[in-house]
Formats: sequence, structure tokens, C-alpha cells
Amino acid sequence: MKALRLLEWKSDPVLTEVDEPTPGPGEAIIRIGGAGACHSDLHLMREFEGGLLPWGPPFTLGHENAGWVHSLGPEVTGLEVGQPVAVYGPWGCGTCARCQVGTETYCENPAGAPVPGGGGGLGLDGGMAELMLVPACTRHLVPLPEGLDPVAAAPLTDAGLTPYHAVRRSWPKLVPGSTAVVIGVGGLGHLGIQILEATTASQVIAVDTRPEALALATECGADMTVTAGEGAAEAIRAATGGRGADVVLDFVGSDSTLALGATVARTVGDLTIVGIAGGSLPVSFFSVPYEVSIQTTYWGTRPELVEVLELAAQGRLRARATTFPLEHALDAYHAMEDGKLEGRAVITPSS
Ligand SMILES: [Zn+2]
Ligand SMILES: [Zn+2]
Repeated sequence: MKALRLLEWKSDPVLTEVDEPTPGPGEAIIRIGGAGACHSDLHLMREFEGGLLPWGPPFTLGHENAGWVHSLGPEVTGLEVGQPVAVYGPWGCGTCARCQVGTETYCENPAGAPVPGGGGGLGLDGGMAELMLVPACTRHLVPLPEGLDPVAAAPLTDAGLTPYHAVRRSWPKLVPGSTAVVIGVGGLGHLGIQILEATTASQVIAVDTRPEALALATECGADMTVTAGEGAAEAIRAATGGRGADVVLDFVGSDSTLALGATVARTVGDLTIVGIAGGSLPVSFFSVPYEVSIQTTYWGTRPELVEVLELAAQGRLRARATTFPLEHALDAYHAMEDGKLEGRAVITPSS
């Protein structure tokens, strides 16, 4: 079968021929319906190098996947061939305290995981191929709820789950009368806006530099849009009666977006850094409003993935996506690099 593989760091992935995987005990093979192209893959191709991570190339890209069970290894019960499923992407050891509650993102026994700190498409073979092997499949596969197909579900496993996790942890602050600011309306941000609208009563303000991204924000339910740059902080302050935003979700994470977030946060608010642009923010007694909590988040938990898929099945969450056949997967990344993608790119190896 064909697979889009990263063969070495700092290179474009290559479409190559590989052997079809066969499932061992506890494993499943998934026929991939959709594999989302994530911005973090560009970091894998452009910036990472040997020694930075406990894993490395070669491997097949694609860490947001959904499809149908193609075959099951021995000792697997509870799943059926042909069943539509989403793949929970972060693969931990399954037995540590974090993994026991479904937070495999922060597995504390990485030596016991299939690959330390990674998963399919992140060190092991991912979904940009017709078939994908999923280890410990009863833990790492979530059956799709009625009405949700794999192409629609795939981007939700990362681009939906990551903002869901970030929003959910701030739910207690997103009461009626509160304001949430979403910085960066890309693959994650446009879903973050929908998640805020579907699960909270807060006013949602979207910030981006691109007019088309702000138009997408409005389409996704944002109550107000603000062009990044001069005047943005004043506009947000004015829209909150001078108080500031209870929760700021920064899906970019650059010096300038972090500075904006710290400027517009309300006292006792949350500033959550999701984007991996690598900016930094000086934190001191005087640099942020009193009792503002600043945190990073990474991906999400398995129970949260169940909730995200449910939200989508209810019609309240939909990834704007452009599909690409596997043969043109590289075009998707190049379009992303040029800032020409609206929403998410989904590779469809089985179409
Ligand atoms: Zn990702
Ligand atoms: Zn673990």
C-alpha cells in the first residue's frame, strides 16, 4: 500500500510503498477514511532534529484519524470488523495514574507506551496510508456515534479535541456574562469558537490577522471579531466593559499574541497557551492582572474525545475541511504553509 512517510527530519514527506500491517494481540487495523493534516506536522518537517524527541523518522504521518475496523488481532473483544471508529491519538502505557483516567497525553510511564511521548503519526505509523495499526485498540479506538462519518470525525480527534480540552478546563469561569477570546482562527481556533458557543454562555471574541479567518469566525458563531494589531486590545477591553476577558485561548502562541492575551485578560482569568509558535511572555507580579492563571495545554483526554464526537453527532461541531486524496497530501501541507487553507485539510486514503 502507499503511505506518506517522513523519512528524515527537516525534509518533505515522501509517498512510498510499504507492506500492509497485520494485527498482533490486542491490536486493530483501521481502514483510514480521513487523516487530518496538522500544523504541527510542519514543525516535524521543518524544525525538529535528532535528539529533540525520544522518537524520530521514518514513520507514516497523520495523527488525527478515523476510519473503519479492517481486521482485529487475537484477544480483541468489543469491536467489530466494519465498525466506524475514531483513533484516540496520544498513546500512553495504559496503567499509570494519568492513563487510568484517560489522560494518556501525560502518561507518567512513557517507557511502557508503544513509543515514549508519541503515537501513530508521531514516531509510529499514522493514518496517511490506506491502513493503520492501532495498539491496545480497545483503549485507543472510540466507536463513532450515529450520524458521524470518518471524514468528518478525523479532524475532531486533534483539531477538535485540543480546543475542547482547553475550553473544558475553564468552564467554571465561562459563566453567563463572561467573555472568551480566541486568538488565531485556523484549524483549531474555528472549532474552539464552535465549542465555546455550544458548551458555554460566554461572549466569544475572535482575533486574527486575516479577513477570511475573521469571516470564518463569524460563520462559526463568534459574537465579535477583531483584527490583530494596533487597537486590538482596546477593542476587546471596550467590548467587555473595560473588565477584560475571563478566558483567553491563544491558538498561535507567538510573542505578540501572548502579550495581547496578557493585556486583555481579566483579573482571576485564564490565559491558555495552545499554539506552539514558541513565543514567550514575561511573568512577574506586575506583568499580568492579579490572579490570572497562565497554562499550556496539550491535546486532550479519551473521555473528552467521546464528548467531542457526541457534540459533532448532535450537529453542534463541524470542522471546515478540504479533502485531498493521498496522492496530493503534500499539496495540503504546502497550502497550509502558504496560509491558503480554510479550516482543516483532511487526507482521504480510502476514497
Ligand atoms: Zn496535531
Ligand atoms: Zn501511562
